This record gives sequence, structure tokens and C-alpha cells, in this order.
Amino acid sequence: MNIGIVGCAGRMGRMLLKHVIEHEAAELAGGTERMGSEAIDQDLGTLAGLKPINMPVTGDTKALFEASDAVIDFTIPAATRDHAKLAVETGTALVIGTTGLDGKDFEAIDEAAEMVAIVQAGNMSVGVNLLCGLVEKVAGVLGDEFDIEVLEMHHRHKIDAPSGTALMLGESAAQGRAVNLADVSQRVRDGQTGARRAGDIGFATLRGGGVVGEHTVIFASEDERIEIAHKASDRGLFASGAVRAALWCHGRAAGRYSMRDVLGL
Ligand code: NAD
Repeated sequence: MNIGIVGCAGRMGRMLLKHVIEHEAAELAGGTERMGSEAIDQDLGTLAGLKPINMPVTGDTKALFEASDAVIDFTIPAATRDHAKLAVETGTALVIGTTGLDGKDFEAIDEAAEMVAIVQAGNMSVGVNLLCGLVEKVAGVLGDEFDIEVLEMHHRHKIDAPSGTALMLGESAAQGRAVNLADVSQRVRDGQTGARRAGDIGFATLRGGGVVGEHTVIFASEDERIEIAHKASDRGLFASGAVRAALWCHGRAAGRYSMRDVLGL
């Protein structure tokens, strides 16, 4: 199966290149970068920290989609919207790991998912997707006397907040409580905030150093506190999840799928 990587010179892009090149069931169809990137023309093997493979990074995204059975996208929301359109134009499955997506991004993804298979997840790790199931269950069992807060920390280069994973965990907690996250989410607190509103799901963001990704969901009552946490120490785990998703969605009916679908959770 031919897999293409868009944004292949990014932190995740390089890791994805390495995983696809080394995967037995996958062939690397190529890798693209944004126009003007210093990575254009560099060898994809070298970029992945491996031996050269005589395939250069290009800026021709359409040609990459045409050459791929599935494309993996860990870029930025504006690029992801374009990639969703190209997936439809070329009939190529798409795996989206980009975070910071908003309403119009999801509209573009859902429109494309009417025509092709798309796996979209704010976190591609098995551990975090298991955690989501646990959080949903715990939130459903514990009553409203438990306040729910999601704490996350990431490296200093991350450009969106709260993280896609924190939002996934918040979504799971909201589902467990049978409420709509948008109605109860408290994403920023600053200054004279007043007391905590009952039923809110709060988010707190830390940024610094090289932290790959740490998340804790806290359930706090007057008398006790339950904390469920996940700590990622290598971004390879996201890359292997994304390649697994690409192999899974090949030949699948059109639709938007989650990582929980891929993992059968
Ligand atoms: P990064 O900034 O290192 O890499 C992004 C790359 O995309 C850059 O090389 C950039 O040049 C490239 N790019 C931008 N526009 C492009 C375009 N139009 N065409 C081709 N390439 C383009 O960022 P990163 O740390 O690799 O993270 C990328 C995204 O993946 C972020 O949104 C991050 O939050 C997300 N992420 C998701 C998961 C997950 O499991 N879902 C895990 C880690 C990171």
C-alpha cells in the first residue's frame, strides 16, 4: 500500500517518514512540504534520519495524492482543509492528525468524508484512546459533586491550546455526563473569574521545554480526588498509530472515522 506524507519535514512528518519507510506492509509514495520550505529537494530518507532513498521532498501535493492510496497529514488547519479537497479530487483516503481544528475545518473534513474514508483524531496513541474510554466511564459513574478538570503540558513549540488530546478527553467526559462539551467547557481563567460554575469541564495548559505530551483528567470532590493520566515520551507512538490508521482506511467506505474505530475500542 502506497502512503504519502504531507508536511514531511515537521517534527511528526519526519517520524512518519521513518515509520512508513521501515514498515513491511507500506511503501512510501513521497513527501511534500509547503512552498518555500528549506526541506524541498532534500532526500526523504535523510530527512527521516535513515539512509538516502533517492526520493526528494516536493511541493507538488496533487501529484502526491495521485500516487498514494492514503495520505497522512500532520500540518496546520489551513493546509488540512486543502488536503481534504485534494483527497476528494483524487479519491485518496486521508489520515488527519493536525490539531487546533475549528468549525469550518470540521465542515471541510465532513464534506470530504462523504466521498472518501478519513480518519481524524487529535491523538493517535492506543493509550490515550483507551484513556478516553475510561474517562467517559468514570464521568458517567461519578455524580455532579465531582468537578472535572483537564490539565495538559506540551513542548514550547506547540501553536494551539488546549491540545487536541485535552479536547478529546473533555469530549469523553462530557459524553459520560451526557452533556454537550461546548455548553460546559471553561477553556481560560484569568482575573476575577468568580466561583467555579457547577458542571463545568475546565482546561489548563502548560507549555515548556521538549515535553512530548502529558495529560491528566482530575475528578475532584470535597473529600477526594481521582486522577487519570497519560504521559507520552516519544512521538513515535503517534506515528505508528497514524500508519496503522492509514493501512486500516485503505479500501474502506467513505466516512469520518476516529482512532477508536481503527483500534476497535
Ligand atoms: P511542525 O510545525 O513541526 O510540522 C508541521 C509541518 O507542516 C511543517 O514542516 C510545515 O512546513 C508543514 N506544512 C505547513 N503547511 C503545509 C502545506 N500547505 N503543505 C505541506 N506541508 C505544510 O508541527 P508538529 O509538531 O509536527 O505537529 C503538526 C500537527 O500535528 C500539530 O497540529 C500537532 O498538534 C499535531 N499532532 C497531532 C498528534 C496526534 O496524535 N493527532 C500528535 C502530535 C502532534
